[in-house]
Amino acid sequence: MKTIGLLGGMSWESTAVYYRLLNEGVKAELGGLHSASILMHSVDFAPIADLQHAGKWEEAGTLLAAAAGRLERAGADMMLIGTNTMHLVAPQVSAAISVPLLHIADATAQTIKAQGMQRVGLLATRFTMEKDFYKGHLHDHHGIETIVPDANDRETVNRVIYEELCLGDLRETSRQAYIRIIDKLVAEGAECIILGCTEIGLLINESHTNTPLLDTTRIHAQAAVALATAAD
Ligand code: GLU
Repeated sequence: MKTIGLLGGMSWESTAVYYRLLNEGVKAELGGLHSASILMHSVDFAPIADLQHAGKWEEAGTLLAAAAGRLERAGADMMLIGTNTMHLVAPQVSAAISVPLLHIADATAQTIKAQGMQRVGLLATRFTMEKDFYKGHLHDHHGIETIVPDANDRETVNRVIYEELCLGDLRETSRQAYIRIIDKLVAEGAECIILGCTEIGLLINESHTNTPLLDTTRIHAQAAVALATAAD
């Protein structure tokens, strides 16, 4: 079995979910007492979030690239960045390592294409919804068209992520707000909704809506399990 390198802590609320899903996935594949071989660097999220909000992406990328290098030297055979937003610096991270970086948008795109969908709604941090690194990646590499909420709704989605979900605070009022925003995206033609922030699956799942939801945490972890357990 290959060893999974995980850059976590962004936030640890979702990294805890990754840890469980990676282990459950390996157990489902290999059975018995098998569990995932994982090397994790769980960062202090506060300084990373400060760098994001100051627009200092390169500096944040340097931190993550250094952490990824340490995980590779410790024996990681592949690398996961356990947050959609920090895939903005994925090129910097992958340039610092020689093992494959499993890009969260590639794993998500495979699921979207397998379900025959082309037009997707995206809920995420404002960085992921507004900058091009994620929507552009889906379009340029996979031909997938992404629609995002309007400015007010983007503000709501983003605020809930940083002020509630990353702090483990799950509120029914926020769940209802997300469902209202999902329904608007569907009315605008979204065939499914990408939960493009690794904490959103803590708040909302398919028991709350009839709209197909793509939980990026789950999809990313599954892709890592598949690679870790594949025969050489
Ligand atoms: N975990 C979140 C994501 O998937 C947000 C936290 C962050 O900014 O990294 O984007």
